[in-house]
Amino acid sequence: MDNCIFCKILHDEIPAQKIYEDSEVIAFNDINPAAPVHFLIIPKIHVASLMECGKTHQQILGKMLLLAPTIAKEQGCTDGFRTIINTGRVGGQEVFHLHIHIIGSKNRLPAMIHKD
Ligand code: AMP
Ligand code: ZN
Repeated sequence: MDNCIFCKILHDEIPAQKIYEDSEVIAFNDINPAAPVHFLIIPKIHVASLMECGKTHQQILGKMLLLAPTIAKEQGCTDGFRTIINTGRVGGQEVFHLHIHIIGSKNRLPAMIHKD
């Protein structure tokens, strides 16, 4: 996709701190980290969000989820981490190339959604 910032990262057209790459996915540090560890796992194929995923994405989704703990441990998250997939407007998605956030810290992370 021409105007997709994450496609540009995976084609090395804009820089990112890549921490993992294989033929199907890359992982790189979030530019605006919410915690000491905050990286994103994205597929190399452009798919806008989880809403646009179908049966054909089953394999890549499974792969991305299984990579999360492997890379998280490498990044120092030996005692857990949080995974987030923001989807669409209501989910607060800002970049419309599917990505999993992996967020970790030494201490327990704050509650994700505050109930009023
Ligand atoms: P989301 O709201 O789930 O779409 O989150 C998009 C995430 O991408 C945010 O946490 C941004 O900080 C991050 N982000 C945006 N541009 C870049 C970039 N060039 N390199 C790394 N992370 C980025
Ligand atoms: Zn893209």
